[in-house]
Amino acid sequence: MATPPRQRALPSVERLLRALEPLEVPRPLAARLVRDQIAAARRSTETPIPGFDDFVEDVRGRLRELAASRLQPVINGTGILAHTNLGRAPLGNDALDSVRSVALGYSNLELSLVDGRRGLRGAYVEAGLALLCQADAATVVNNGAAALVLILHHLAIHRGRREVVISRGELIQIGGGFRIPEILESSGAILREIGTTNRTSIDDYRRAVTAETALVLRVHLSNFYMEGFVESPADAEVAAVARNAGVPFVVDLGSGALVDVAASAGLHPEPLPGPVLAAGADLVCFSGDKLLGGPQAGIIAGAKAWIDRLKADPLFRALRCDKMVFAALQAAVDAYLHAAARRDAGPPRRIPILDLMLVSLEELARRASAIQQRLHESGLPIAVEECQAQIGGGVCPRSSLRSIALRISPPQGDAEALLGHLRGHRPPVIGRVSEGCCWIDLRTVFPEDDEILVQALQATAERMRKSRAPAKSAAPP
Ligand SMILES: *Cc1c(COP(=O)(O)O)cnc(C)c1O
Repeated sequence: MATPPRQRALPSVERLLRALEPLEVPRPLAARLVRDQIAAARRSTETPIPGFDDFVEDVRGRLRELAASRLQPVINGTGILAHTNLGRAPLGNDALDSVRSVALGYSNLELSLVDGRRGLRGAYVEAGLALLCQADAATVVNNGAAALVLILHHLAIHRGRREVVISRGELIQIGGGFRIPEILESSGAILREIGTTNRTSIDDYRRAVTAETALVLRVHLSNFYMEGFVESPADAEVAAVARNAGVPFVVDLGSGALVDVAASAGLHPEPLPGPVLAAGADLVCFSGDKLLGGPQAGIIAGAKAWIDRLKADPLFRALRCDKMVFAALQAAVDAYLHAAARRDAGPPRRIPILDLMLVSLEELARRASAIQQRLHESGLPIAVEECQAQIGGGVCPRSSLRSIALRISPPQGDAEALLGHLRGHRPPVIGRVSEGCCWIDLRTVFPEDDEILVQALQATAERMRKSRAPAKSAAPP
């Protein structure tokens, strides 16, 4: 096979980097990318080496993609409150102030300020969480999955018993690649599936619990729901079966609602830790960054004897949280405790995800109209529409929250292109496409970001106008 003649020499890394300045990413990363591009051009013998300017433009595009992959704030116009891809629960000022004050310098993370000896990490937060969960004790690990792994790992190698009794209806997948059966098996447990997908009776539990049973596990169906010919016994019944057999009963609650905020927002209620423990569960676990509205964390609450044993397991050390997580969680826990002490017994204030859930439809409509008016001149056809927002993160799958969105009809009928332009804005605006239109749901947009949203939409209208205009530079003069 003949190699075509190479028309041009490849430019040097230095020359390319100079042409790309100012760089959007640190120089070593840009240099690496440039080197890779040169190597790729050298390898590809089929295509001629591009001209210098084309080469620069190509690398510039890739650098932009690299810069876009840096962690950065976005405006969430999806209407999904705990959007896993968008960082789940936003933390808010109280949590951030707490993180800043604790993490900027040194802290008493593991020091008792009373006697100057070694203190317990997270002791204050654990005590507060135990109170909020109406439990004897509580502890915190890195995330909900870690909480479940720790519990399974500890209990399923306990007393030589390995079987975990679980209903077939609860062998679910949570988010990307987190499957309950795989987690179970990777922790050394043996699955003892009972019942059928839609029906599991208390007799199924009774028959399955034997001398081989390590624990009975229930998993809240957080990201879907079943309706119709379904049966599943109450927690108290399952707890009684487990207790009679001397086997621990564990409930993975998923969302981590600590107050009945779902009900205040007109949503289907999520299970709360207190009542599940009162029904007889020995341990419950849930995430910190879903409905609780805190940082990524996995919270375990229940009997003190079990919590102490989990904390003594060597795996606990590998799953423990950082001081920043404790600092943020502490602010959230305090907010919940203050709210519990208030007479009105309403949800805590200044927990952003709860605040967003409780904004009235009228307020959202007022903001939407104001934004619509500001964009009157832009040429973007914008309508204010009622829509349905969602909790997301696998929470409250059966109910949605009434909300208000801006519905933008793309001038060329290309809603995805419009969405792409908005994503390309800095800060990026993330919307969704439905019925051929681009929707920005204001339920998840903080009021202080309305101005940025207006600017992003104005800039997008401008860019779309330009890209529609006939290209003048196509023909040489
Ligand atoms: C979300 C969820 C998990 C995983 O929690 P992470 O904090 O995402 O690790 C586990 N179980 C259930 C039921 C969940 O909803």
